Amino acid sequence: MTVDEALGRATLRLKGAAILSARLEAELLLAHVLGVRRLDLHAAGGRELLSADAAAYEALLDRRAGGEPVAYLTGRKEFYSLELLLTPDVLVPRPETEMLVDRVLELKPRRLLDLGTGSGCVAVACAVNLPSCEVTATDVSPRALAVARRNAERHGARIRFLEGDLYGALPEGERFDVIASNPPYVRAAEAARVATHEPLLALDGGPSGLTLLARVIEGAPGALVPGGTLLCEIGEDQEADALRLARGRFSSAEVARDLAGQPRLLVAIRYSVRG
Ligand code: GLN
Repeated sequence: MTVDEALGRATLRLKGAAILSARLEAELLLAHVLGVRRLDLHAAGGRELLSADAAAYEALLDRRAGGEPVAYLTGRKEFYSLELLLTPDVLVPRPETEMLVDRVLELKPRRLLDLGTGSGCVAVACAVNLPSCEVTATDVSPRALAVARRNAERHGARIRFLEGDLYGALPEGERFDVIASNPPYVRAAEAARVATHEPLLALDGGPSGLTLLARVIEGAPGALVPGGTLLCEIGEDQEADALRLARGRFSSAEVARDLAGQPRLLVAIRYSVRG
């Protein structure tokens, strides 16, 4: 079987499993098996596959058809134009989370806190693009922190990693110019369905989906400098809840929409002077 034939069959197979980007994913998986870049597959279209490679490809296609995210199968995912390493210990970075990075870069903080860093995607993208920013990233999961550390090393990002539960990971009295967070915000009942292969810990926001969001929002004024900004990702149906949780705690709070036009990011600014 040639590379082209294998890709054609794999695409049909993945389409049959209701996978939307079947051709793209077939290419990503074959490139992974062959150890080449996806774009190099085109030039190799007529090449015969070794039987060991064909078997390895088949095994990955089975797993993909069974619902495992392609990013776990290849161990890689692109985020903010950076190639990140991924394991099932961390959530697969979503494209809408790039918006969180955009907003941090606009604000150019001197000190940034990424609360619940997971793969490290937000912290690493910010550190790479703001070389003089001091970046602190926390996570409650040591296994997630191990992945985030590898991603920081891979991209030469200097980040201070702290293990602990949200603000509980921070040394007493630390203040940041910006807090960025993408906490678990999916309702428990739904999270169990979304997280068939991803860590529940990274998605499950409690019965209402708001348990962790409330803690992030309520704790933010105590960890921000006066006038500092909280940027917190939310679910598309959580705009009113997020604004309610922020009410009275910040000098201003608004929800920005993502590229799909959905409410996605709470932007809340701490009072400059208490009053
Ligand atoms: N947007 C993600 C999803 O719906 C959830 C991310 C999160 O809980 N922080 O799969």
